[in-house]
Amino acid sequence: MARNTDPKCRQCRREGVKLFLKGDRCLSLKCAIERRNFPPGDHGMNMRRKVSNYGVQLREKQKVRRMYGVLERQFRGYYKKAARQGGVTGENLLRMLELRLDNLVYRLGIASSRSQARQLILHGHFAVNGRTVTIPSYQCKGGDKIEVREKSKKLDVIKAAMESRDPSVLVGWLNVDKEKLTATVLSVPSRQEIPVPMNEQLIIELYSK
Ligand code: SF4
Repeated sequence: MARNTDPKCRQCRREGVKLFLKGDRCLSLKCAIERRNFPPGDHGMNMRRKVSNYGVQLREKQKVRRMYGVLERQFRGYYKKAARQGGVTGENLLRMLELRLDNLVYRLGIASSRSQARQLILHGHFAVNGRTVTIPSYQCKGGDKIEVREKSKKLDVIKAAMESRDPSVLVGWLNVDKEKLTATVLSVPSRQEIPVPMNEQLIIELYSK
């Protein structure tokens, strides 16, 4: 499976914002954005370039793509599907990203980052509506029940993530039962219910050129 192998903190520094790719470290003072918030590379600290419209749109797209851990080809696929659906394309795009199983596992606090969520899913620790799912990009819908499989409930990594879960990632449209390690997608979220600081319109403008 293809994956992004760029160092995680370097990706944040390139985008100039915290993308929360490293779990607990992102909430500490060890975070590279807290210590060195300038672009990576020899000239990063002195870089003062005027950014074109295209550059602004590109950076916004890269930021969101890296945040959700989606490669370019798959991200473009999400855009095409979003454009075919009715309504606002940017919102459709964001909704599809939010309803990926790896993102939901992260939002539930069962994993400390989306990449850790992806790994746990690939190892078969989760079931959706009673069936084991090993596809991180699996699209959930309103009413779906996500659960940690019985044999995986005692895993140290899951216990540790639940104990140190970051409250800022929790969302009202997911109902979590911390004891049973289950959750229900109460409804498909609206744009206001997705706490991601992004301008999705810039991404739509980039792809519709
Ligand atoms: Fe990004 Fe986390 Fe690294 Fe900070 S610690 S730069 S938020 S990956």
